[in-house]
Amino acid sequence: METIYSLTLKELETVLGEYGQKPYRAKQIYNWLYRKHVLTFEEMTDLPASLIEALSARYCIMPVTLVDKQVARDGTAKYLFELTDGSSVETVLMHFNFGESVCVTTQIGCSMGCAFCASGLLKKQRDLTAGEMVGQIMYIQRELDEAETRVNNVVVMGTGEPFDNYDNVLDFCGVINSDHGLAIGARHITISTCGIVPGIDRFAAGHYQYNLAISLHAPNNELRTRLMPVNKAWPIETLIDSLKRYSTDNHRKITFEYILIKGVNDRDKDAVELAELIRGMNAYVNLIPYNEVEENDFRTSDEKTSLHFYDVLMKHGVKATLRSKHGDDIDAACGQLRARHERNRSAG
Ligand code: SAH
Repeated sequence: METIYSLTLKELETVLGEYGQKPYRAKQIYNWLYRKHVLTFEEMTDLPASLIEALSARYCIMPVTLVDKQVARDGTAKYLFELTDGSSVETVLMHFNFGESVCVTTQIGCSMGCAFCASGLLKKQRDLTAGEMVGQIMYIQRELDEAETRVNNVVVMGTGEPFDNYDNVLDFCGVINSDHGLAIGARHITISTCGIVPGIDRFAAGHYQYNLAISLHAPNNELRTRLMPVNKAWPIETLIDSLKRYSTDNHRKITFEYILIKGVNDRDKDAVELAELIRGMNAYVNLIPYNEVEENDFRTSDEKTSLHFYDVLMKHGVKATLRSKHGDDIDAACGQLRARHERNRSAG
């Protein structure tokens, strides 16, 4: 059964129209779902009984159940959720000084095949619906209700490639951004892509206010193709051209994500080449420590090398941040908790 969380306010108005209901009912329902956080239609006491019956027959509300949760010493929590078809997804909650941030999964598995990533161990099985993404947020939001805090930042950086599930991801953003919904500010929602250029072009044309982050991870085609097969389809020049258009047309800054992998992409000349590639763009680089996974031999750059890489970028006039690790003592890298459960499942 589909979850009502999948419906944008407009779509909900259309559905309600089918039952002869006025559009204002959609806002009433959004209020119950996203302000009061109810989990049943029966609790929506200002709706007519016939409508409650019709909606209950057609939709569920919460599409996820909790299978496992790990909490790291720094408070980062990793959730393993099961969906209604039995498949499972990972979601991460991080505490920052600016608030509670949730990292959302967009697909079951991923077909992008990045060499360093544990998510890609399982090829894409299917796209998540918008509601299954909203559900990840709502489950965690309901937990946070007890502490009277709210999810105020969302990064679309969990398992999956958002621009390989474009419509559902944008619907999801629409629901959580809606003034009548969770009202998470567009500037507090970040979509991260491995560089699917048609998706970036579409996103640019939509003039959305969400932030765009690009997983770059290498300053030239030779290295990037080795790490990220997607680079064969849309090489760096094509990617950068598309990003420049986006940035100019939308007056928006771009975040480049760059994981530092020991001896692979963290050398002095890599930093210089990266600086030359993006100098002059309205962008900054988020340097991320590589999270080691069992399934490959890539290693985290040491601190000295990471700091030096950062310094080289700054000296060349490129703004950068060196991100600290979160949830180091849990299976925090993408796909790791899931991968462990799969192993246990097949071992048992
Ligand atoms: N497909 C999208 C979003 C999901 S991946 C994308 O590629 O951007 C989210 C981020 O985590 C990407 O930058 C990805 O390259 C990075 N990542 C994947 N595995 C990682 C690991 N083991 N350590 C650190 N970052 C990792």
